Amino acid sequence: MQSTANLLDFDLQGLAAFCDQLGEKRFRATQLFRWIHQRGAADFDQMTDLAKSLRQKLSVHARVEGLRPISQHDSADGTIKWLFDVGDGNAVEAVYIPEDDRGTLCVSSQAGCAVGCRFCSTGHQGFSRNLSTGEIIAQLWYAEHFLRRRAGSDERVISNVVMMGMGEPLQNYANLLPALRTMLDDHGYGLSRRRVTVSTSGVVPMMDRLAQDCPVALAVSLHAPSDVLRDNLVPLNRKYPIDELLEACNRYLEFAPRDFITFEYCMLDGVNDTAEHARQLVELVRRHARGTGVWCKFNLIPFNPFPASGLLRSPSEQVQAFAKVLLDAGIVTTVRKTRGDDIDAACGQLAGDVKDRTRVAERIAQQRSIEIKPVAVLTGNNKEA
Ligand code: SF4
Repeated sequence: MQSTANLLDFDLQGLAAFCDQLGEKRFRATQLFRWIHQRGAADFDQMTDLAKSLRQKLSVHARVEGLRPISQHDSADGTIKWLFDVGDGNAVEAVYIPEDDRGTLCVSSQAGCAVGCRFCSTGHQGFSRNLSTGEIIAQLWYAEHFLRRRAGSDERVISNVVMMGMGEPLQNYANLLPALRTMLDDHGYGLSRRRVTVSTSGVVPMMDRLAQDCPVALAVSLHAPSDVLRDNLVPLNRKYPIDELLEACNRYLEFAPRDFITFEYCMLDGVNDTAEHARQLVELVRRHARGTGVWCKFNLIPFNPFPASGLLRSPSEQVQAFAKVLLDAGIVTTVRKTRGDDIDAACGQLAGDVKDRTRVAERIAQQRSIEIKPVAVLTGNNKEA
C-alpha cells in the first residue's frame, strides 16, 4: 500500500501523466478525476464505466486516501468544524460556514505555521510540516461529500473555498497549486477564481508567482498600519515590509479575478485599534492607490482571545469608531460576523489541544514580555473564515 500513489495528490494534468504511465489515455484520467472529486468515490470497483483492466491496474498502483476525522463540532448556526488526523500527533482543522447565498469551506495548508503571528492560535503552536496536495484537497473532498450525503442530494454544497485555516498557504506553494487547480477544474469542483481565496501574511515573491500560475482572489493579513507595529504582530513583516507588500498587491491586481484586494485586520484592544491607527491606514492606502478607484477593502475581525496570546478583543464601540474613519475616507470596510461561537471555531485551537509545541509557546511568551503590553486572556479564531 505504501508504494501506491494517492490520487488525491494529483490535479487533472498530474492524473493524466499518471494514467499515461499506466498506458492509459487522457480521457480515462478525466473519468477517474470526475469519479473521485465529483462523485466522492474512493473504491475503484465503484467506477463502473472504467474498463475492468484499468480498475485492476489502479487497485495495484493507486489509492484514494482521504483524512481521518478525529472530531466534528456542529454549531447551532450551522457552522461545522472538523479536526483531521495528519499523523505524528498532528491535526488540522477545516470549517464549513453556511450562509444564505453561499457555503464556504475554510481549509488548512500546513500542520502548524512558521510565521508566528501574535494573535493566532496556530502561530503559537509552531510549525510541524506542510500538508501534501492530497491532504489539502481531502478537506474539501470530505466536507463536500459529507454535506451532500447529509442533504441527500447530488447538488454542490460548497460554493467558496478560503485558504485561511491553519498555515501560511504561500509557504507551501508547490502543494497548494495543484489543490487550487483541482478546486477550479470543471471536472473537479468547478469553482470560479472569484470564489477561491488565498489568504497570505505577505509572502511577496509567492504572491507574484500565484498571479502568474493561478490568480485566485487574494486576502492579505495586514493587521497594522506601520512597520514598527506589524513587525511585532506579523513577524514576516521584517522580511517583506508594508510598502513592499502593498506594491505586490498592486501587481497582483493586474491578474486578480476581482478589482480589489481584501485586507484582514484583527482588532486588538489598545494595540492596533485606535482612531490614529485608522488614520494611518487611510494614509497608507492612499499612498499606494493607483488611479482613483477602489483597490482594497478592509475586513475588521473581532479578535477571539486564547490563553497564550495575552491580547484582548477590542470593544465593539472601538471597532465601529475605527470602521467609521475608514468609511469616511471612502474605503469599503466590513466588520466580520462571528460564527460558530458555541463550538469554539477558533483556528488552531482544537489542533493545539492535540499537540502542544511547548518551546514555541515559551518563545512567544518571552517575546511578549518585552514587546506589547500584557493584558488578560480568553479564547478564539482570528483569521478570516
Ligand atoms: S495568522 Fe496565518 S500566517 Fe499568521 S501564524 Fe496564523 S496561520 Fe500562520
